[in-house]
Amino acid sequence: MSGLPPISASTARWRARLNDLKQRLNAYRYDPAFPDEAGALHCCRLAMTALEQGCRGAGAILISGHGQMLLQDHDRVFLGGFHPHRHAEMGLLEQFEGRGFDLDRTGLTLMTTLEPCPMCLCRSLGHGIGHLRYLVADSEEGMAQTIEQLPPAWRELARLQTRSPADISPELRALAKDLAFAEQAQLQRRFLNHIRPDN
Ligand SMILES: [Zn+2]
Repeated sequence: MSGLPPISASTARWRARLNDLKQRLNAYRYDPAFPDEAGALHCCRLAMTALEQGCRGAGAILISGHGQMLLQDHDRVFLGGFHPHRHAEMGLLEQFEGRGFDLDRTGLTLMTTLEPCPMCLCRSLGHGIGHLRYLVADSEEGMAQTIEQLPPAWRELARLQTRSPADISPELRALAKDLAFAEQAQLQRRFLNHIRPDN
């Protein structure tokens, strides 16, 4: 961990940032005029939990075709060690595999705070998840908006899924963005320090 500023709740700046985000989250009242608000707000609460645990502020839920929340998870990359694959969506899809759901997959919606990365997006395609809704676009790491860059077989699979930003208020989207990108530079340094500790 040489030369790496640790993410720690003991630092005043980080504590203040967390408190600010938590206050905004607790004060937010969801707007029923936007159909994805309730699920999106729950995703944001999951993202807050991830941030409090020193991970990226990202959360995900799986919703049935009848609007029932089936599964949830949040980012756990730095929780109890280093797990580069443990994005919110990956944890959720691991649960999905374990449950052996007998569901109409065309009706399933994966809702995420942050546009999924290639790894998570392709896993959602592999499971035939019908819809993907993300609160915040991510032009640096996200793949939902750049499907045409996938290999042909994956592009074909992607035709079975709809992908779009969640229908939520601008205020909630701004909050989700601040959660997702809080301390991002420090998290990236921490990640690189794990895989290239001598650099
Ligand atoms: Zn991912």
